[in-house]
Amino acid sequence: MPEVVLTMDRTLASNYHGGMFMGFSACVPKGIIPDWLYFTVFCPSVDYDKETGEVEEAPLGVRRIEAQLRREGYDVIVAHPDAVERAVDEDTIAVGVSEIDPQGMGPATTTFTSFSGKPAYMKICFEELMRRIRRLKREYDFGVFMGGPGVWQVEDRFPEFGVDFLIKGEGEYVVGDVVRRIEDGDRGPEVVKGRPVDPEDIPTLVNPTINGIVEVARGCGRGCKFCSPDMRELRSFPLSKILKDVETIVRSGKSKVLLHAEDVLRYKADGVRPNVDAVIELFSTVAEHPGVEDVSVSHVALSTVCLFDERMGELSDIIGVGTRVPWVGVQVGVETGSPRLMAEHMPGKVAPFKVEEWPDVVEQAFGILNDHGWVPCGTLILGLPGETEDDVMKTAELLDRLRDYKSFIVPLFFVPIGDSRLSDHEFFTADKLTEAHWEVILRCVDHDLKWLPTLYGEYARAVGHSPLIKLVIRLLAWYGRRKLLKSALKHCPNEELVYSILGSG
Ligand code: SF4
Repeated sequence: MPEVVLTMDRTLASNYHGGMFMGFSACVPKGIIPDWLYFTVFCPSVDYDKETGEVEEAPLGVRRIEAQLRREGYDVIVAHPDAVERAVDEDTIAVGVSEIDPQGMGPATTTFTSFSGKPAYMKICFEELMRRIRRLKREYDFGVFMGGPGVWQVEDRFPEFGVDFLIKGEGEYVVGDVVRRIEDGDRGPEVVKGRPVDPEDIPTLVNPTINGIVEVARGCGRGCKFCSPDMRELRSFPLSKILKDVETIVRSGKSKVLLHAEDVLRYKADGVRPNVDAVIELFSTVAEHPGVEDVSVSHVALSTVCLFDERMGELSDIIGVGTRVPWVGVQVGVETGSPRLMAEHMPGKVAPFKVEEWPDVVEQAFGILNDHGWVPCGTLILGLPGETEDDVMKTAELLDRLRDYKSFIVPLFFVPIGDSRLSDHEFFTADKLTEAHWEVILRCVDHDLKWLPTLYGEYARAVGHSPLIKLVIRLLAWYGRRKLLKSALKHCPNEELVYSILGSG
């Protein structure tokens, strides 16, 4: 049996059909749709070995820790959360749990659960997993450590969940020591602080990641006040290292690679100005790697898109937009239409442009992306500290300007992420929504309802969805719209506005 077993809650053991839009369903509250439907259609499980519990694919962060511990001589597996029992026994030294949003306190989850008052699946799944791990811990006396971007949510009470060591920040330099301390009988409880890892020290993946995700850089450096301090410094990985991870994905029989960074277009950038040639070399080298058939991208920054401008077309040609794929989806941060709030909380996001130019930067970037077959999925933040009615109306105006760009826009509530510079502010919740906020939310709904049928139609044609799947999707869309209408009518003070956007159902 392995010495170290890594796992994650069930909502993280899914590829969400590889879709950027479906990933948001991780944040859906329980009770909106039947559990069986959620776990089969929205959040299908990754495959795993029914005897050993070992998963075929795992989240990137878990795979990095697996690689690091193997490098330090440990026998490690990543077990499916439903099969942890099959992976542990008296040989187990430690169980490590990786979490993104263990209490459902992240921005998307807070927003979706705020209306229903019900907990998110990720909280339920995390707590259920930890109950089972505590029972196994009593039986086999192993130690438990936990890491991942969501640890701030349990920092004050991690021993309650049976966790001995909580690793904050990047884990590669500290996780080996934690396991050695557990092996020596140390059970904490202790918060262990990781530190930024030099790209040269990051271990090569030994097993495939979910959706073939491959990291090309860590950190950001734009310094938004609400963001995690782990994002302080941008570190791009050497191309040779990235290719080794790509090789791991391909060797496992997968042909899709998802390039991940907070802003993939700033790969090897010096400051905020992109190194366009380095990015093009990155894309073409990965796309030409034997066995790679499909390259996609996780996030880009809108200001970088404006600097890239027409050369986005070169990336589209490499990816095969319009030939191999109908479009390429990418997540972007719109956040607000208010230059005043940009200046207050995130001037670095606009750089090198001026904060007053932000709405123009957003619209121009949406245009450039669309011109080259990219579909932005933008997030907005409602309830930023110091926000006024005028700021919110500026966001509503920006949404009007974006209406004709093929895109998807998701409004999220402000969350004071632990250790961020805004961590002492309050969560924004549904009961604080003003009429202006509702205007923004409903305009987002209107925007998404306008574009989703087109986007889904093109996607379904490209991947060859059967008429039955198309029918199921249409039924789900109809059902989702009715639920939205009901919820909006319950909470929004302006019924007329709701009916004008969502119709009468
Ligand atoms: S641009 Fe994004 S990743 Fe960078 S600091 Fe701002 S919110 Fe964080």
